[in-house]
Amino acid sequence: MSPFDTIVVGAGIAGLAAARALTDAGRKVVVLEARDRIGGRVWTDRSDGFVTDLGASWIHGVTDSPVAVAAEAFGMRMVEFTVGGYQPDSRPIAYYGPDGTRLTDAAARRFADDIRAVDAALAGFVAGSAPDASYRDVTEQALAAQGWDAERTERAREFLEHRSEEQYGAWIEDLAAHGLDDDSIAGDEVIFPDGYDRLAAGLAADLDVRLGTVVSRVAWAEGGVTVTTDRGTFSARDAVITVPVGVLKSPGFAFDPPLPEPNAGALGRLEMNAFEKVVLRFPAKFWDDDVYAIRQQGPESRWWHSWYDLTALHGTPALLTFAAGPAAVATRSWDDDRIVESVLAQLRRLFGARVEQPSHVHVTRWQDDPFTLGSYAYMTVGSTTDDHDVLAMPIGGILHLAGEATWTDDPATVTAAMESGRRAAERILGRSI
Ligand SMILES: Cc1cc2nc3c(=O)[nH]c(=O)nc-3n(C[C@H](O)[C@H](O)[C@H](O)COP(=O)(O)OP(=O)(O)OC[C@H]3O[C@@H](n4cnc5c(N)ncnc54)[C@H](O)[C@@H]3O)c2cc1C
Repeated sequence: MSPFDTIVVGAGIAGLAAARALTDAGRKVVVLEARDRIGGRVWTDRSDGFVTDLGASWIHGVTDSPVAVAAEAFGMRMVEFTVGGYQPDSRPIAYYGPDGTRLTDAAARRFADDIRAVDAALAGFVAGSAPDASYRDVTEQALAAQGWDAERTERAREFLEHRSEEQYGAWIEDLAAHGLDDDSIAGDEVIFPDGYDRLAAGLAADLDVRLGTVVSRVAWAEGGVTVTTDRGTFSARDAVITVPVGVLKSPGFAFDPPLPEPNAGALGRLEMNAFEKVVLRFPAKFWDDDVYAIRQQGPESRWWHSWYDLTALHGTPALLTFAAGPAAVATRSWDDDRIVESVLAQLRRLFGARVEQPSHVHVTRWQDDPFTLGSYAYMTVGSTTDDHDVLAMPIGGILHLAGEATWTDDPATVTAAMESGRRAAERILGRSI
């Protein structure tokens, strides 16, 4: 007889939240994790003496956030940083026009008002969109409704393209019209000066986590589940599977029998994105004080358009930018130096010779990571928002899928991971927790 009631595959936030809840309820749980660490896409690097979050950084709104509640319970320090939702002007942002000069405050305000006007129209076009409409289709309708001249329209269009890329790591024509429906933020956003990974450590306390255990097959039948790994097989009554969509779709991870409908169809309509972080620490600050972010407009902004000022985190000058969507795909094969030079060329366009070489650099490689194969899932054209929840529908009372891609309200986030893990636990326990 198996010593375990439940096998949890994956020690990211979804898996840890599920295992925590089940263990607290008295179930015998084992967590199988491929990596030599917990946390998954919540991953903090400290190798160079700095604290750098290479995966998630933000809680996108602390109001009613279960992640904020957990972070407080674990004593995690938080710093307000309300620019993580690609807002046009939630906090001071230094905008640079296509010619590389900073916009006046009044011009930046007018631009932000333009974005708000497009967004107000966009909601109706999204609601009335055809099932096969892309985010490009609906944003073009909303832009046309404004009756602006070509230059003003183009500035707003490029903002909408960048928002699709930064929020979902997807090119605007590949994202479903409803792909940003969840894009609302309640309350301030925060980040973690001591690292987001403390959340994972807090959830994992005293759990039975087997690191370095790569799962390749999940066989399920009425009597229970048998999981094949490179370190032997594990059996239990039921299982919570939290591996990312990229792994679920990869040939190295098999369900036997295969995932049934409607789960399989929902999985087919979600895709992993291309989204990488570039963190640059500088010997001296060359950008203005009192701005949360730097943004540039115009043709030069195609790849590198937004830099987030992380200086307040540790008191050392630091900027975060993203290779998102097409930029991440195109630079995937580049080495770090080439990527950094490409970013610096744009910063030098704005700030000239004051831009020194960075002293420390981090470039992430989530697209090449075999245990995620991308950063998070996005809705391809033809998908529906419900596909997230449908992916998590219990299978035969035995299998429960969880993870960021399985939570319709706020997918692609740490919140989604945590909520989906708890939901899986509740379904197994047959009661709320
Ligand atoms: C660059 C980046 C920036 C982000 N920014 C934010 C942000 O600011 N705010 C936010 O809320 N979210 C952000 N996210 C998203 C957030 O990190 C994820 O939504 C969340 O961490 C996913 O948790 P999860 O438990 O669903 O998946 P994961 O964390 O991926 O956990 C799944 C686990 O399964 C393991 N696994 C995979 N394959 C196998 C296998 N074959 N056998 C055994 N184990 C396996 C993995 O190693 C992993 O530990 C970001 C993500 C990235 C990558």
